[in-house]
Amino acid sequence: MQLTFLGTSSMVPTKERNQIAVFLSYGTEGILFDCGEGTQRQFKIAGIPLSKVTKILLSHWHGDHVLGLPGLMQTLSSTDYTGTLEIYGPAGTKKRMEKMFEAFVFDKKLNFKVEEVKSGKFFENGDFDLESYPLEHGIETLGFKFTEKDKRKVDMKKVKKFGIPHNGKKINPDDVTDIEKGKKVAYVTDTVLCSGCYKTAEGADLLICEATYSSKLADKGEEYGHMTAKQAGQLANKSNAKQLVLIHFSARYKNTQELEEDARDVFDNVICAKDFMKIDL
Ligand SMILES: [Zn+2]
Ligand SMILES: [Zn+2]
Repeated sequence: MQLTFLGTSSMVPTKERNQIAVFLSYGTEGILFDCGEGTQRQFKIAGIPLSKVTKILLSHWHGDHVLGLPGLMQTLSSTDYTGTLEIYGPAGTKKRMEKMFEAFVFDKKLNFKVEEVKSGKFFENGDFDLESYPLEHGIETLGFKFTEKDKRKVDMKKVKKFGIPHNGKKINPDDVTDIEKGKKVAYVTDTVLCSGCYKTAEGADLLICEATYSSKLADKGEEYGHMTAKQAGQLANKSNAKQLVLIHFSARYKNTQELEEDARDVFDNVICAKDFMKIDL
């Protein structure tokens, strides 16, 4: 599993930071969390073909999270994208997609389906499942969680011990295999610290969380429905997350060190994402 941070800025992009978008690549699946303006170009620069995207998960319909959607879909529809692009978002997403297709002239060659999701599991296959939980941001907003399924791995040492092929005796799978725990990735932005954050982040191996402001601007965070870096640290701490990656920075922070330090006050294993940063899990 590989994560690529395609954009790390909040509302206003900066020279170094594009609007928010995070890409999770897992086997043949490519899950895009949010799609800020210019995301398709970020894919190009990152060297990831747009055709790798199979699912788009929209946290909410503020522009910085969706402005890249029409462009990305238009480009996909001009390629030989053969699959059905799945788009998941909060209540109202279908209507907004329709309006978007009214506003632009699309040839609509692209096969896609739109699903509105609420609370709990909304997708599952043999390898992983996807959950969403409502966040508090003034409009319908969702946190997302990717959970890889546990895998049974054959342990060759144990197999040798049993001397397989065997003499016809039954072997318990537990005797020759180990369970490899599936990884969890949580995505939490834009919201105040609320119960939905904890549901999303619980037990995450990697928690990707907004840090729009440092705690010096906690009042602003409260006013605009955003978390501070320290709150992201608190969330990581209480949810037993293993690693915290901060995203969605206000353009006022030329340098994100202040945000990283603010979170590190309460949670050690934290870094600020940069555009094009990659993490292998
Ligand atoms: Zn935002
Ligand atoms: Zn927002």
